[in-house]
Amino acid sequence: MAFISNKGNKNLDPYNKKTINEIYQHAKKIGIETKPFDIFAYIRNIPEIDYWEDYFDNDISGKIEYKLSGIYQIVVNKYHSLSRRRFTLAHEFAHFVLHKEFLKQGNKLEDIILFRSSNDAGNKKELEANQFAADLLMPKEVFETEIRKGNNKINGLADFFQVSSAAIKYRAFKLGYLKEY
Ligand SMILES: [Zn+2]
Repeated sequence: MAFISNKGNKNLDPYNKKTINEIYQHAKKIGIETKPFDIFAYIRNIPEIDYWEDYFDNDISGKIEYKLSGIYQIVVNKYHSLSRRRFTLAHEFAHFVLHKEFLKQGNKLEDIILFRSSNDAGNKKELEANQFAADLLMPKEVFETEIRKGNNKINGLADFFQVSSAAIKYRAFKLGYLKEY
């Protein structure tokens, strides 16, 4: 299936663009692969994050929790595919970046990551985390360059960015390439 053309970019994208750019600059500086973004290696370089994988029920994608030691624990479901674990880790990292204060108040976040449509009155933090994860793993400029180069099939883009086809559809929708998903 080819994408329909970009009919009026809704520009829902770049509210956290500055942060994403800073992360990319930081990643390049410390020698981390960014095409596609090596989220596992990047997380290993953040001293406040302790990351591991564990076996959860299939509907649980991952969790993040603040510990009084000052460490944020992120656990991702080991049963899930690499592409899903990449997105889940990026999503939990988004909570670390965007929702630190909420976590510090003792709130744990346990995630069932589904890609909801933008008009869903979903939890704001979850929508923000999905948007951030999508920005991080599929930067707008790179996504658009790939499409211009003719890499405009969902499977091809999923291979390129190493994310699920659901994540590609979500991103394409957010950037105005798909009317719905
Ligand atoms: Zn979440």
